[in-house]
Amino acid sequence: MKKRPTLVVDHSALRENMSMVTGWCRDAGIDVAGVVKATTGMASVALDYESCGARWIASSRLEQLARVKDAGVKVPLLMIRVPMISELDEMVRICDYSLQSELDTLKALERAALSAGVTHNVILMADLGDLREGCFEKEELVDLAKYVEDRLDGIHLAGIGTNLGCVGSVKPTEEKMLMLADRAEAVEQAIGRPLEIVSGGATSSLMPLFDGVMPPKINMLRIGAIVFCGPNEDLFTCYGRQEVSEMRDDAFVLEAEVIETNTKPTHPIGELGVDAFGKKAVYTDRGRRRRAILAIGRADYGDIDDLIPQLEGSEVTMASGDHTILDIEDCKEILRVGDIVRFKLKYSAILRLTASENVTIEERN
Ligand SMILES: *Cc1c(COP(=O)(O)O)cnc(C)c1O
Repeated sequence: MKKRPTLVVDHSALRENMSMVTGWCRDAGIDVAGVVKATTGMASVALDYESCGARWIASSRLEQLARVKDAGVKVPLLMIRVPMISELDEMVRICDYSLQSELDTLKALERAALSAGVTHNVILMADLGDLREGCFEKEELVDLAKYVEDRLDGIHLAGIGTNLGCVGSVKPTEEKMLMLADRAEAVEQAIGRPLEIVSGGATSSLMPLFDGVMPPKINMLRIGAIVFCGPNEDLFTCYGRQEVSEMRDDAFVLEAEVIETNTKPTHPIGELGVDAFGKKAVYTDRGRRRRAILAIGRADYGDIDDLIPQLEGSEVTMASGDHTILDIEDCKEILRVGDIVRFKLKYSAILRLTASENVTIEERN
């Protein structure tokens, strides 16, 4: 029997989505780095991206990039989480590009690159207000760039970049993109040559591109989320972009098995303390309703809000680490033990499910 739960990965959907992204970007003079971290670095996904015109494959984890490299991806690999000093020796052997923000790390990177006998390409990060990695002041970025250019061997200053719409939720507006373009020009002035790469951000930076306000100076985006989720990507739900409505939202589908069906009260009976995760939950009394328990839980996918039930009329109401309660009172279909229920997924659920050892991944081409 097929092992459950199963995460079905539809590679044709991923390729359709990535081709749309590389198409939009190509029209704006932008190259795409395909980010695979949300799939825990599935090498097959990297191969999809490469075949759809991604010019780099990127991840925030070295072990994922190592896997991608072993699968025979030909385009250069890009490490997008500013690296630990302790992983530099490994990093220069696995990938050719990395994002950087610290002088001490860059000095250690010089030693690592020289001892491995390679030239490693760096993209220096500018923090434009989202408050994650990068030089906050323009002068700081220019000084760091000048140091790399003039003083460090074995390291090539390939460009600068920024990250927005992350820990600080800052939107990649035209103003922020112009700020990045301005920093790139300042660095070019200081080093006396053009930079190859000006990297304008992640999926959220498709907004200025859709709006036609992306400055021509920006020539790289690092894209993950929108390819995996299409219209289910929260960013686009919240800003309501039309362009994305034609993308596929079924590249990742979770199949879970029913282990109990019953009609039970919807409000717990007894004195209420805390739930399985130590949280005080709020329950709405909707009377007795028909429901199913599925053999999958928060240990696998994280948060019930990241599951999008495909069974019409059903709703996920509660979950423990290993159980998910599905309200099926309003469903036309009758569910029985052993039946399969399907869910489309939001980003964090894909991230967790691909990493869960309980979940079998089934790939379709
Ligand atoms: C995760 C990440 C990306 C990709 O972001 P998406 O929203 O998945 O497109 C790009 N750049 C950096 C630095 C990241 O950490």
